[in-house]
Amino acid sequence: MEKCIELIDKLRKNTELSYDEYLYLIKNRDICKDYLYKNASEVRDNIYGKKVYIRGLIEFTNYCKNNCLYCGIRRDNKNIERYRLTKEEILECANAGYNLGFRTFVLQGGEDLYYTDEMLCEIIKEIKNNHPDVAVTLSIGERSFESYKKLKEAGADRYLLRHETADKSHYEKLHPKEMDFDNRIKCLEELKRLGYQIGAGFMVGSPYQTEENLASELIFLKKLNPHMCGIGPFISHKDTPFKNEESGTAELTLFMLGLIRLTLPNVLLPATTALGTIDPLGREKGIKAGANVLMPNLSPGSVRKKYMLYDNKICTGDEAAECLECLKNRIKTTGCEIEITRGDYKN
Ligand code: SAH
Repeated sequence: MEKCIELIDKLRKNTELSYDEYLYLIKNRDICKDYLYKNASEVRDNIYGKKVYIRGLIEFTNYCKNNCLYCGIRRDNKNIERYRLTKEEILECANAGYNLGFRTFVLQGGEDLYYTDEMLCEIIKEIKNNHPDVAVTLSIGERSFESYKKLKEAGADRYLLRHETADKSHYEKLHPKEMDFDNRIKCLEELKRLGYQIGAGFMVGSPYQTEENLASELIFLKKLNPHMCGIGPFISHKDTPFKNEESGTAELTLFMLGLIRLTLPNVLLPATTALGTIDPLGREKGIKAGANVLMPNLSPGSVRKKYMLYDNKICTGDEAAECLECLKNRIKTTGCEIEITRGDYKN
């Protein structure tokens, strides 16, 4: 316990921890966790207040050219009905979301070549035109520098691209041969260079992941210094090669959330839907462990069940308004509250 306190206090003073020190904390998480969560939520409160930012997630296509071994919308999954939202449908989601109080929209999808740069630019421009006070976040995978540049010029503010794991050999166990770890990292660097607020992230408890990998994640994140970091438990999906793999746990995800908050005090840190799926109170616990963002779904009811990245995803039967009401009530139990704002990164 003494060593836990020493290391967590060190992080609070903004002193970097070594790989071995992170590993010590992860291995001893049972005894360190309460002290970690207390410190992590204090750090969040000092920077962002007891506020939780909401992002409206618009899952606009489940077509994907990639074949990530863990993902339910992978190319080879023939068991799902594919869909694409039209520009009008996307704009309608954004309008409805705006009226509910959302000031950030996240356009997420599989890597779907149907949407050209031109189409995406038009969608971004129209959203920004209709609602000049919102931020647009993209989460559409790996693209060229030129494409990222065009999308930025069209008005995109942020980009979420989870690196999935900081270890190249682990990356290769989660992805088919044609996918390349170095390219994914290069994309993150290019996005940063173009002036996007960037979001990295990884799954907790993905197949073959070790505690050592998790220690490396923190060293990697400290160096990359992203504005956002999305983490959630890996959850197996029945129509993927990882269908029989064990899912990650809320317990370890929460501990990683706390460590990320202390490692990157200003980071925007979501309590993810995957965390709420693996544990009914996962998102509330995530907030208590230092998270400060929630990303409820704004996609139309008719397509929600089709964007199944993993089994048993929650909130796929609800309307956006219901989701928000439910989240507001849930968040109250944590002592925090939802704020209507773009929720930009604080320097
Ligand atoms: N095509 C985009 C969006 C991917 S989906 C991109 O490449 O960035 C968003 C995230 O969902 C992924 O980055 C991955 O970390 C997560 N995800 C996918 N399958 C998952 C699973 N089975 N369990 C938990 N998270 C998963």
